[in-house]
Amino acid sequence: MIHSFNPPARTLMGPGPADVHPRVLAALARPTIGHLDPAFVAMMDELKTLLRGAFRTDNALTMPVSAPGSAGMEICFVNLVEPGDTVVVCINGVFGSRMKENVERAGATAVMVEGTWGRAVDPEQVERTLAAHPEARILAFVHAETSTGACSDAQALAEIARRHDCLTICDAVTSLGGSPLEVDAWGLDAVYSGSQKCLSCTPGLAPVTFSERALDKVRARTTKVNSWFLDLNLIMGYWSGEQKRSYHHTAPVNALYALHESLVMLAEEGIEQAWARHAHHHQALRAGLEALGLELIVPEAERLPQLNAVAVPAGIDEAEVRTRLLARYNLELGAGLGSLAGKVWRIGLMGYSSRPENILLCLGALGTELGALGHQTDTGAALAAARAVLGTD
Ligand SMILES: *Cc1c(COP(=O)(O)O)cnc(C)c1O
Repeated sequence: MIHSFNPPARTLMGPGPADVHPRVLAALARPTIGHLDPAFVAMMDELKTLLRGAFRTDNALTMPVSAPGSAGMEICFVNLVEPGDTVVVCINGVFGSRMKENVERAGATAVMVEGTWGRAVDPEQVERTLAAHPEARILAFVHAETSTGACSDAQALAEIARRHDCLTICDAVTSLGGSPLEVDAWGLDAVYSGSQKCLSCTPGLAPVTFSERALDKVRARTTKVNSWFLDLNLIMGYWSGEQKRSYHHTAPVNALYALHESLVMLAEEGIEQAWARHAHHHQALRAGLEALGLELIVPEAERLPQLNAVAVPAGIDEAEVRTRLLARYNLELGAGLGSLAGKVWRIGLMGYSSRPENILLCLGALGTELGALGHQTDTGAALAAARAVLGTD
């Protein structure tokens, strides 16, 4: 006999999902109504307004895709990229290689800007590549590389793209809500995100926003979009237009209540305050990690506050430490991916996970278990260092 599933209560400090706020979980449990119900349609209009606030844009086409962040990536590529196009793709971690896959599956050519894992995308390298490829129509890059903890200068990259007459596709899955992102002021064209990182919501939704320039390219297509579900021409009929909302797919009704609640909470906090909170908590975690003798792999000027990749000390089995943290403290940290597998832990401070008590739990647990495995640490000093930064928080 299989019984109801009751998951353990964990503290999620990995690369996502992050801790979901209780208010968001409560919103999920509200009564399901029809997805064309006038009350639901009114909620969707608020959701679009709230998303525009989070993305800092006036873009009319700003909405959540009913699928995870990867579908946010895919909706940008399948609509904007046409067979025969050339797309310049920056790669400095895991997610850039997925962009390349998307470009090639859309029948286009990907020209890669190969960067270094753990570093920001180099704007000069992008400039040179775009100059060498005047046929390029699009520049694609990851703003916040969750696989390494590096933050690229999206504003500078958008400026270079515009000078070379390219649209931008920007992965803001981990940046939205966690560190500065200015879609309109920076002139980004197609930006996608995810619900489960710095928005403190459950996984499974992908907020996206498209500039008019991006939509002009979609409208000018001479070939059909190679996906029925993600064809913007069809989705726009469902999400835009105040009167005639036509059936496209059944919206994930309760999941959208959850996203609405998380965005209401973000608006209550204030987006700039949310950015400041993530930055402040990153400084506290960093002070504690340094007191433990641990090092962040990304140079200071290129670090994300919400994702901290920490070098595993010599002689320590990184998986053993994560296993102990999960079993003994209900604490989840992330492992390294790709070339960083076995070499780093990824400590997320995303959304509702970015709280003083989580920082202290993480430092206390990590220091204690490293000590138990024979690595010299001073856990008390780490907690004191973090407390000193947190002040009266
Ligand atoms: C998590 C993540 C994604 C993918 O989102 P899913 O919801 O897992 O599909 C894409 N890009 C980045 C940078 C991410 O961190």
